[in-house]
Amino acid sequence: MKPIPYGRQDIDQIDIDAVIETLTSDFLTQGPKIEEFEKKFASYIGVNYAVAVSNGTAALHLAALALGVKEGDKVITSPITFAASANCIRYCGGEVVFSDIDPKTFLLDIDKVRKLLESSPKGTFKGIIPVDFAGYPVNLEAFRALADEFGLWIIEDACHAPGAYFRDSNSQVQMSGNGKFADLAIFSFHPVKHIATGEGGMITTNSKELYDKLMILRTHGITKNPDLLQKNDGGWYYEMQQLGYNYRITDFQAALGLTQLQKADKGLKRRQEIAKRYDEAFANTHIVTPLVSEDVYHAFHLYVIQHPNRLNLYNHLRANHIYAQVHYVPVHTMPYYQSLGWNQGDFPIAEKYYAHCLSLPMYPTLTSEEQEYVIQKVLE
Ligand SMILES: *Cc1c(COP(=O)(O)O)cnc(C)c1O
Repeated sequence: MKPIPYGRQDIDQIDIDAVIETLTSDFLTQGPKIEEFEKKFASYIGVNYAVAVSNGTAALHLAALALGVKEGDKVITSPITFAASANCIRYCGGEVVFSDIDPKTFLLDIDKVRKLLESSPKGTFKGIIPVDFAGYPVNLEAFRALADEFGLWIIEDACHAPGAYFRDSNSQVQMSGNGKFADLAIFSFHPVKHIATGEGGMITTNSKELYDKLMILRTHGITKNPDLLQKNDGGWYYEMQQLGYNYRITDFQAALGLTQLQKADKGLKRRQEIAKRYDEAFANTHIVTPLVSEDVYHAFHLYVIQHPNRLNLYNHLRANHIYAQVHYVPVHTMPYYQSLGWNQGDFPIAEKYYAHCLSLPMYPTLTSEEQEYVIQKVLE
């Protein structure tokens, strides 16, 4: 049997044809496919604006810049996430403040964030970056209420959750990244994520003001919009009005994003099926399976189990060519963040979670036969 990874892209002939067609068109970058991808992605998520960028980390960086993060600003995030969720604050000279996770959902624990805010002088913190970890959507309605109380902004890291939703207090469906509660949300199109463009990312928002800022920051801080220019020397004229970056995505990546988006719902359904089968197979064992709740639609970017002897299980699977993974080594225990004063022991729930977690293979093209093999090896 061929090696089974924990996650993998789904590329078919339709994707390949779309990329090739764009490669032979007039534009390799900054062409029409980018805007089309942004519009279709925005409509899929149910948000007003979307800005495509070169990767999810660039999306986080631009989001932090657009919200004005600067030297010394304190921002709260979860230790159980990919390092980039925290790093974006450091890029702007801000300070990352971690807060522990909820032991059931593994998401940033809102009660602990409240305690942190209440025990600090007003104005200490500028924002919160909750993460839809593994594809379990954060209850952003609750985070919005808390953020408003303390005058904070919210960046939702929705990299794991395109298509996920929670039901708000009026039982309304709220899709991850829809901009209803968070100021900005970000996505990644890295091949292990739901939609693959190679490298790629997206920022979504309902704020026209933030959208305009992001569009300028994405391209060097340069604008050609006649309404924004300080003077105008002619048709060629442009102005660099602030320090921006080249965080653009290419047109052929956007073309791939478009064909990937067309099968996003099919992929989500397949992920649900796979999760259900794992749930059944591990019921009545000492394996703890992911929380299931009627209030949320879990996007299952990851299927994370908890096991008392994770190292043995990991090694046994590996010996059988099953490449399960650990998500994540807690960010506050990374040497870089330790050098900034964080320590092992700071977040007991996150560290306990890390001691037992393992992400089993989860991707739409995982066959039933492969999944049964994984289950058999896990049960062994
Ligand atoms: C993948 C990921 C990122 C970064 O995305 P890249 O496209 O790899 O830069 C950020 N946050 C989370 C939670 C992710 O999973």
